[in-house]
Amino acid sequence: MDKPNKTAKSILVTGGAGYIGAHACKALAEAGYTPVTYDNFVYGHPTAVRWGPLERGDIGDRDQLEMVMKKYNPGAVMHFAAYAYVGESVTKPAKYYRNNVAGTLSLLESMNSCGIDKIIFSSTCATYGMPDQIPIDENHPQNPINPYGRSKLMIEWILQDFAAAYDLKFVSLRYFNAAGADPDAEIGENHDPETHLIPLVLDVALGGRHRLEIYGTDYDTPDGTCIRDYIHVSDLADAHLLALEYLNDGGQSNVFNLGNGNGFSVREVISTAMNVTGCDIPYLESKKRPGDPAVLIGSAEKIRDNLGWRAVHNSLEAIIRTAWRWHKK
Ligand code: UDP
Repeated sequence: MDKPNKTAKSILVTGGAGYIGAHACKALAEAGYTPVTYDNFVYGHPTAVRWGPLERGDIGDRDQLEMVMKKYNPGAVMHFAAYAYVGESVTKPAKYYRNNVAGTLSLLESMNSCGIDKIIFSSTCATYGMPDQIPIDENHPQNPINPYGRSKLMIEWILQDFAAAYDLKFVSLRYFNAAGADPDAEIGENHDPETHLIPLVLDVALGGRHRLEIYGTDYDTPDGTCIRDYIHVSDLADAHLLALEYLNDGGQSNVFNLGNGNGFSVREVISTAMNVTGCDIPYLESKKRPGDPAVLIGSAEKIRDNLGWRAVHNSLEAIIRTAWRWHKK
């Protein structure tokens, strides 16, 4: 079968102005696609949209979505648009179910009515909840413990149901902890408010905040702090391209974890960041954040075996180094 003509192919990227979406747009453009960003700019940054056209809109707005779909006739959708603050999802569940779940439903109905039959969806390890075993593989039970994780799991189910009912193929990618920045430092992580460990640590290094709070030091881990599987955002973006090519080549709907298969504690992140930055990083040992599992490490074997994915930035130091270069800018 001939490969599709990539040069001409538009890909609709919802949330393309966000952290991971913007890195995916860059990877798409470098591979010869035209990424069409669709973003409502609630959390996205217009300055992060550099590799293709920009359309402002909400995923809940079917008229706007369908206008954009007809205008660009994309071959597939990469769906990043979502609210992703776990803590906020507990206090404002409706916001998460309306935007993430109902918004995705509207996106899928629009795709269906415009004849777009491929979607790559940003899912999360938060759909697993508290792990029974480490590393977590794709067959691990999914028992999310907060509305954010539940909203993403509901979308995974909706995708299965749409794939069964209509001519739709999907790949759901369950991310572990996305981190780092574009190695060219053109884009990086810039959440407001920022809650993620690595940007906060680097902000302390730069003097933007006085100290880091370590959430919990008596976990059942070697140094008492939580262990997470950090994956470089450009490696994540590459996985989306592989997933797109997999669907373009006729691959069946599928689900893959995206982690590195190794974990680092909060203290290891701090000490690596001190080495990379050469700065002191003061911290306060604080109480646990509710709902934080002690250890989250994903098995990436399935995506390696099936899609040939390999992490380029597979050391914590390499990840923090790229984040630091961007942060200093
Ligand atoms: N963390 C911390 N202090 C902070 C932010 C995060 O100790 O100010 C810890 C958090 O408890 C978790 C890890 O760092 O164990 C990664 O947190 P992050 O919010 O970056 O990602 P999450 O794993 O929650 O998705």
